[in-house]
Amino acid sequence: MKLIIFDLDQTLVDFISVHDEATQELFSRFFGVDAKLTEIDFAGRSLADNFLELAKLKGISEAEVSKNSRVLVESYEMIFGQKLNKEASDHVLPGVRKLLEGLSKTDNFVVLYTGDSAGIVDRVLKTTGLGKYFRFAVYGTEAPTRVGMVRLAVGRAESITGKKFSDKDVIIIGDSLRDVNSGKQLGAMTIAVATGFHSPEKLLASKPDYLFKNLKSYRKVLQAIAESGKGLT
Ligand SMILES: [Mg+2]
Repeated sequence: MKLIIFDLDQTLVDFISVHDEATQELFSRFFGVDAKLTEIDFAGRSLADNFLELAKLKGISEAEVSKNSRVLVESYEMIFGQKLNKEASDHVLPGVRKLLEGLSKTDNFVVLYTGDSAGIVDRVLKTTGLGKYFRFAVYGTEAPTRVGMVRLAVGRAESITGKKFSDKDVIIIGDSLRDVNSGKQLGAMTIAVATGFHSPEKLLASKPDYLFKNLKSYRKVLQAIAESGKGLT
């Protein structure tokens, strides 16, 4: 049994246009400025980090954002929910359902980790029907760093299964440099997928174990997972 940790945004789903609109509305409402998420390097970061970074770009003080951080996340969840269609399966990236379906037939323990808050993730999983594939999710609101989120995921998976997951028993699949880097810090196997805002060249430079253009190559991804850490466990 291996622990597979998936990133959500731009690895499995693409809701960037919705995130962009929601951010624009939030910043207009709270700070009276025009601001879009895609103006900053948002990939693989938490909502709170992205709000801070975008505010900085717009000349809004950190204190102003920090004192409103809770209400900002709550308002964001509400705005995002209003903009989301009830049925959002067309936001699921190619190959994703087949990959998750394939994994559901193995004994692997499959979880999510994402910079989004719980309210956003619930809505995304409900409207795409992907929720059934994951044992749990670790949210950006639970740990200050990406690697901290991975550690939480490993700890939680170990307490549920009673099994130790170390080194290449842990597999991180994500679209950002931050996914690759956090996996490498823990000695995990890293699978990068170039369906996000970090280019294939950039991702390659971070030296993931595998780089795929997209998850249409789901058979190869399943094979890579099956071969990870062979002979070590
Ligand atoms: Mg991502």
